[in-house]
Amino acid sequence: MFLIFWIMLTGFLSLAIYVSPFAARMIAEKRLRHICRREHVLILTYDDGPSVVTTPRLLDLLAEMGAKGTFFLLGQRVQSTPQVLRRLQDEGHELASHSQDHLNAWKVAPWRSVVDVKRGFATLVKYGVDFGLFRPPYGKLNLLTWFTAVCYGVRFGWWTVVSGDTFNPLPDPDSIVQAVERDGGGVVLMHDFDSDEVHSKYVLELTRRLLEKASVYGWKVCTLSEVRQLN
Ligand SMILES: [Zn+2]
Repeated sequence: MFLIFWIMLTGFLSLAIYVSPFAARMIAEKRLRHICRREHVLILTYDDGPSVVTTPRLLDLLAEMGAKGTFFLLGQRVQSTPQVLRRLQDEGHELASHSQDHLNAWKVAPWRSVVDVKRGFATLVKYGVDFGLFRPPYGKLNLLTWFTAVCYGVRFGWWTVVSGDTFNPLPDPDSIVQAVERDGGGVVLMHDFDSDEVHSKYVLELTRRLLEKASVYGWKVCTLSEVRQLN
């Protein structure tokens, strides 16, 4: 009897703590996909930066092509590369939080993930970053991190297309461009941390191809907050 009660209790708690934020994310992503298709917009998003090599290269490319990106910053990397952060701010890109140390809210104790989220917000505030979006590391929320973000008044920065730019081997960039093309626009998840030259070049190449495709179809290229204002 006790065992059945215990299984039911843990099942209910798991549902409440992990599954309900995941379900909310699925609904939000579906809605985001619909808005992107309806409005014909392309949103380029970059996680885990800023970095010393890849981020400045990306900023050069975005400036050359007249586009703005949305950067989900890690607090620890903001602290180690403040000069790149200043460039991101000066060049008018959207800046948002991606936590302090990139803890997976499904793999660490819930209170540890809450501390990570709060520290990430505090670092951005300390460095004068005005932000309204949070993207949880690995896209994983638990009920406590969800509640923390809501209490701070930030919204969640989900995506509609995964670029695969951290995979080994890397996917064909054409397959990613075609996925966005099929959807008629979208929010593309990429990364601008420094790993190796091959991955760094892939992000740049994919960014260039997506912007060229946007130009061909006449899609509007905007930041994630801008598209959310459209709904
Ligand atoms: Zn990340």
